[in-house]
Amino acid sequence: MIEVAGSSGVSLWHAVSRNRRDRPTLEGALDVDLAIVGGGFSGLSTALHTAEKGISVAVLEAEIIAWGATGRNAGFVVPNFAKRDPDHIAAELGPERGERLVEFATGSADLVFDLIRRHGIECDADQ
Ligand SMILES: Cc1cc2nc3c(=O)[nH]c(=O)nc-3n(C[C@H](O)[C@H](O)[C@H](O)COP(=O)(O)OP(=O)(O)OC[C@H]3O[C@@H](n4cnc5c(N)ncnc54)[C@H](O)[C@@H]3O)c2cc1C
Repeated sequence: MIEVAGSSGVSLWHAVSRNRRDRPTLEGALDVDLAIVGGGFSGLSTALHTAEKGISVAVLEAEIIAWGATGRNAGFVVPNFAKRDPDHIAAELGPERGERLVEFATGSADLVFDLIRRHGIECDADQ
């Protein structure tokens, strides 16, 4: 945590980004196909890819977007498994599901940088 004028107690990323607290609080009922609890990488990616398929989505975030680990990490986009090699994944999940997960992980960095380019996200990304 760092101290930046007017941003006490937030992570560096939050202190220097345009992420704001001005998104509306949910009041009353909302009628959507999918409600996602948590606006970190997992919730936001699910929301984006679901919405792109024409499904109505709401993201419910208790704090501000990326308040959790997503707004506090080291920023490395590394297409591997932190504590497992591909052989372990196949052994644990079986050849079919293991192979699918390894393929997914292998393409994950390209997915991230493609998203940044496609949506013009200003985040000083360097692939
Ligand atoms: C110190 C650190 C360094 C890391 N470095 C890297 C790295 O370099 N590269 C990498 O790929 N990964 C890294 N990671 C891992 C990565 O940041 C996480 O795997 C990822 O951010 C998890 O995203 P998430 O959406 O699952 O969870 P989170 O980002 O934690 O999102 C969960 C969200 O849910 C919200 N929430 C919780 N409960 C509720 C509720 N009841 N109602 C509404 N909202 C709720 C929280 O406020 C939060 O915003 C790091 C993690 C840490 C902690």
